[in-house]
Parts: sequence; structure tokens; C-alpha cells
Amino acid sequence: MAQTGFVKLAQDGKARTGVITTPRGEIRTPAFMPVGTAATVKAMLPESVRATGADILLGNTYHLMLRPTAERIDRLGGLHRFMNWDRPILTDSGGFQVMSLSGLRKLTEAGVTFKSHIDGSKHMLSPERSMEIQRLLGSDIVMCFDECPALPADRDRITQSMRLSMRWAARSREAFGDRPGHMLFGIQQGGLEQDLRGESAEALKAIGFDGYAVGGLAVGEGQEAMFGCLDYAPDMLPEDKPRYLMGVGKPDDIVGAVKRGVDMMDCVLPSRSGRTGQVFTRRGVLNIKNARHQDDPRPLDEACSCPACTGYSRAYLHHVFRAQEIISSMLLTWHNLHYFQEIMAGMRAAIAEGRFDAWEAEFHATRALGDIEPL
Ligand SMILES: [Zn+2]
Repeated sequence: MAQTGFVKLAQDGKARTGVITTPRGEIRTPAFMPVGTAATVKAMLPESVRATGADILLGNTYHLMLRPTAERIDRLGGLHRFMNWDRPILTDSGGFQVMSLSGLRKLTEAGVTFKSHIDGSKHMLSPERSMEIQRLLGSDIVMCFDECPALPADRDRITQSMRLSMRWAARSREAFGDRPGHMLFGIQQGGLEQDLRGESAEALKAIGFDGYAVGGLAVGEGQEAMFGCLDYAPDMLPEDKPRYLMGVGKPDDIVGAVKRGVDMMDCVLPSRSGRTGQVFTRRGVLNIKNARHQDDPRPLDEACSCPACTGYSRAYLHHVFRAQEIISSMLLTWHNLHYFQEIMAGMRAAIAEGRFDAWEAEFHATRALGDIEPL
């Protein structure tokens, strides 16, 4: 049976580059994972997602268990075949989205019962059920089932929640069992409390995982507080395993996280923004619906090699956005995902060559210029 593993190829400061090996392909790190919530990265064909440079996608347990259900996906050959993506897939545990999306939750030591946001039907998630669902989906990287309190929360609440998540991490490990070719990641909790982050890291290391996530950030605390936590939280996790920061983020969040020792991230931002007309370029953020673009024959970014930039003008992209044509979401999502992957490729090369600081300075300097002058 094919093996999994992580090899660090180079380090520059705290920033690392390496490769995660899975039977479905290699994942170059630092890696950005596009989010395929309902077994699709919205507005993108899987081969198009691959063309942007993505090595791995994220799928959402909560959404897929409700519709079309994990059992149905299993009967149809698993999530890779179902959505026509044969490369690695990471699935979350469902815990975070139960908290953020479902109605009428009841949390006990056993797990969470909740009502579906789709039809109000009643469901249960526990460490054991989450492991079962992620196995039915055929996920390559499985996440522990955890509880994540929204910040700000008081220290007692964060402590209780973290300790519950550590008990659930042990149950997740037990339920996951021995599955060669698949990886299980633990999730560090503890809010913005350094000692609780340390307690959580020790508990996870005692259980032993194939990778470790920094959980409970990017939940409203702001970039400064997040970076403050990332100044110490990744250092508490094993140096020889991948480190995954969940739900991050904007381009400058991603760069700041990699600088602090994070290897993997995911976020809906590039795809969701593509559907709302928000475009990320080397020179910051622009909104394609602004009238300044309606007569502009120039591309979004003349240095970008994506289909939106090589084939279409700002004027066209403005027009199809205003006309609510489907191609607008397709092209803007493609561009945003392409740009996010270019950031990752740029960081990987810079770390390998020992020039991350210079790369980062250039990244910030170019963004500071702002969008090109209107014609
Ligand atoms: Zn582009």
C-alpha cells in the first residue's frame, strides 16, 4: 500500500517548503487549498482548478453529509470519482460548520446534535461519526472532530472547549484506526491563550498525528491578534509534520502565516470573491463592477497568464459582471485562484532559494502601489 509522508526541503527563517506525499499525488507546500464545499469549486471545472496550480482541494463534511449524503457518495465510488478530481482531497470534520451554519444545536460530551440548515432534519456528529463520514467520502487527509468557540470567548469557555476537543481528538484517532495511504490531522485549540495552545499541542503530540492544524483562528479576532498567536502556536507543533492553518485567508494573511511556519491553508475567499466581482491582483484588490473599468481595454493584470487576463479586457469583465452572465463568475474565479496559487509558487521558490524576506518585501511594495491608474 502506498505510503504518506512529509519531507521538508528548505527553511528560510521560520518559512518552510516541502512536499506531502499521498497515493493520489504530491502536495507542494506551502499549499493553498481551494474550497469545494458541495463537491465543486463553484464556477470551475476540476481540470481548470488543477490548471491554476492546485495540488489538493478541500471538501466540507457538514455540507456533503446533508446533501447528497456520504453514504450516497460512497455508493457512487467516493468523492474523487463523484466530482472528477483524482488528486488529494482534505475534508474538514464538520465541527466548525455545525457551529456556524446549523440551527438548534445541542452539545454534549458524546457529540453534537443539530438541525440541517437545508431542510431542518435532525443529525448527529461525533468523533466516531465524523471519521465514518470522512472514510465514506474517501478523503486523503482527514481532520479530527473538534469544537471551536467563536472569539471573543472568556478563558473558562476556551479552556473547557479545548479540553473537550482534546478528548475528541483521542476518540477521532481511535475511530480512524489504521488506514495506510490516508492521513489524520489533529487540531490545536486554545484561542489566543499561549499556555492553553501549549497544553493543546502537548495533548495532540501524546496522541500522535500525521499532521497538525492550528484551529480556532480567523474567526473574527483580526489579523494582528492572529499573527500574535501564530508567532508561537506553530512552533509548539512537531517540526517534521505538516502544519495547517484552517480558514485563512487574504493574500497578506497567507504570506504572514507562511512567514510564521505554516505549510497549508484553505479559504473560500478567491472563489467567493470571484462571484461578487472582487478581484485580487499583485497590486491589491479591485472591484470589477466599478464604472472606471467600463471603457478599459487592459487586462486585470498584464503580468497574469490566466485565461481572464490573456483573453479579456476589464471592459468585457465589467460588462459580463453587470449583465450577470455566468462567464463572469468563471473568469474572475479562475483569475483569483490563479493569483493565489502564484503567491504560493512564489513563496515556495523564494524559500528554496533563501530569499523569502526579499520576496515578501516585493509582495508588500507591489500591493502598496494600488491598482493601475484609470485611463
Ligand atoms: Zn489573471
